[in-house]
Amino acid sequence: MKLFTVGPVEMYPETLETAAKQLPYFRTREFSNLMYENEEMFRESINAPSDAKTVFLTASGTAAMEAVVMNCFTEADRLLVINGGSFGKRFEEICTIHQIPFDDLRLKFDEQLTEEKLKPFEENGYSGLLVNLNETSIGKLYDIHMLSQFCRRKGIYLIVDAIGAYGADRINFEEDEIDALIVSSQKALALSPGIAIIEISRRLYEDRVLRGEAGCLYFDFKLYVENQKRGQTPFTPAVGILLELHERLKQIRRIGMMQMQKDIQELAFCFRKHLLEKGFVIPQYPLSNALTPVILTPNARKMHDRLKEEYGLIVTPNGGEMEEKLIRVGHLGCLNGEDHEKLLSAMEKIRETL
Ligand SMILES: *Cc1c(COP(=O)(O)O)cnc(C)c1O
Repeated sequence: MKLFTVGPVEMYPETLETAAKQLPYFRTREFSNLMYENEEMFRESINAPSDAKTVFLTASGTAAMEAVVMNCFTEADRLLVINGGSFGKRFEEICTIHQIPFDDLRLKFDEQLTEEKLKPFEENGYSGLLVNLNETSIGKLYDIHMLSQFCRRKGIYLIVDAIGAYGADRINFEEDEIDALIVSSQKALALSPGIAIIEISRRLYEDRVLRGEAGCLYFDFKLYVENQKRGQTPFTPAVGILLELHERLKQIRRIGMMQMQKDIQELAFCFRKHLLEKGFVIPQYPLSNALTPVILTPNARKMHDRLKEEYGLIVTPNGGEMEEKLIRVGHLGCLNGEDHEKLLSAMEKIRETL
């Protein structure tokens, strides 16, 4: 079996080895040191300045999205949400539940996010913009420079869900003046699901998190930031995944974040080139390196099922209206060019008998 999914993905042998070990007790000096190193290596990987805050949350990525909204915004704010798919919609659901007013910049499947599309929202007096840098449900990548400039011009907070982009697409916390960046363990980090990492700019932390109320205990970032000063978390974390993270961040530091992105990009570009040569169709919008969406209307579900049943190759299916239209081929984790060639050849064979 081989996973071409977007999370969980094929894990590296080193991660599997780490995951198989007995967990240590964690209220210790050794674990604190490991957490300091996790913080330092994570920051380095996104180029965050030393005055930014890092929160290690034991939860899935969605919890981190919700926690950011809860810690940073209130009913007195108005947010702009880029909604180009199911993860953009999820941000809106979170705002609705927490009664935070927002406007919805909705993009159709084929639409690219451009200056033109942002224009009608220029004068609306927002306090923040929420975006999923890679809208992973369809693999659409947004222009972070453009969004960053928009936020800078307006003096508003830039909240980036980089769960699907981290490790695969260029991210620079400091250069792009990001205020909150969200990452999750099961995507390009290729770890077990269960740890989310949130990087928060000093200005967002001081102006909002410190002055505000999270409205709950478990997700209160103040507790996490206070505890991280001694290399700890307020509650028992997913100790094992934090050990996996440590091992993996060391590996990423050795390879280099840029090189990691380049390697994933090369897998993606090569796969797309061969796909197109074989007459498959991919969307026209800018794509994240993390995955390739393939348009197979109306046979997407069938293709997914047969790849799994006949070849043991698992691509990412879509739900809802995309179910019969798209499959998503992930390029994350322990995969190489040869794996992709095998997948493509299986897709061709199945196509002949659909
Ligand atoms: C995977 C993903 C999430 C959600 O993650 P869960 O860990 O399933 O909660 C959120 N946003 C984006 C962009 C993702 O790719």
